[in-house]
Amino acid sequence: MAKYVPNTAKKQPLVLMFGGTFDPVHYGHLRSALELTQILPVQKVHLVPCQLPVHRSKPGATAEQRLTMLRLAVADEAFLFADDRELQRAGPSWSVDTLESLRQDYGPQQPLVMVLGWDAFLGLPNWSRRERLLELAHLIVLARPGQMHEASDEVLQLLKQYELQAGEALNASPAGRILRLSLPSTFEISATHIRRLLANNLSVRYLLPDTVLNFINEQALY
Ligand code: ATP
Repeated sequence: MAKYVPNTAKKQPLVLMFGGTFDPVHYGHLRSALELTQILPVQKVHLVPCQLPVHRSKPGATAEQRLTMLRLAVADEAFLFADDRELQRAGPSWSVDTLESLRQDYGPQQPLVMVLGWDAFLGLPNWSRRERLLELAHLIVLARPGQMHEASDEVLQLLKQYELQAGEALNASPAGRILRLSLPSTFEISATHIRRLLANNLSVRYLLPDTVLNFINEQALY
């Protein structure tokens, strides 16, 4: 894993895209997004719930409910933004389309970064138009306790080709590099675990914000 040495002089701060099902959003997502803004020069984190997830089964909550939970969770956090752009598109949510749309908003020079956990990164070889992903954005791959499965040869090859070396900065270019990061706080929390606890009438308090939990209770989700 490369040691990241921030080199922010006269460079544009990063725009981050953190996509997911967020079914529901939890402190694993939220604390990761926040810590990224504290250790890197970041101007905004777009948290983008998907409409129809492509690589998994149907979510327990509707897209609107998942967006509402995300909005509640980031309501008072200046750099975190619940972005509904995937809900405006019909059909499956391909990350590459979301990045195309962010690239249009911010222009060709803006350093743009897609953030994903190690588990999601392992599936990258199967993603739609994956060669285009690295033309549109950098990737930050977060260590995720409990989800550190082995990488395939294809994933190892991607790392060999694109991973940042010590001293290089993500905002030195608009796209095309991969940074693996282990953030100061890591949480072995998953939405699957939260849904299972709720289905068994067990408490999920302290795994996600109380505002989100209140919404789950009001709407009788999961
Ligand atoms: P599920 O258990 O339903 O699959 P999840 O908890 O993995 O959900 P997603 O919405 O699928 O959450 O994840 C969105 C993104 O957040 C993915 O890139 C995933 O790797 C990352 N992520 C999820 N939980 C964590 C965590 N605890 N720490 C770091 N990254 C996480």
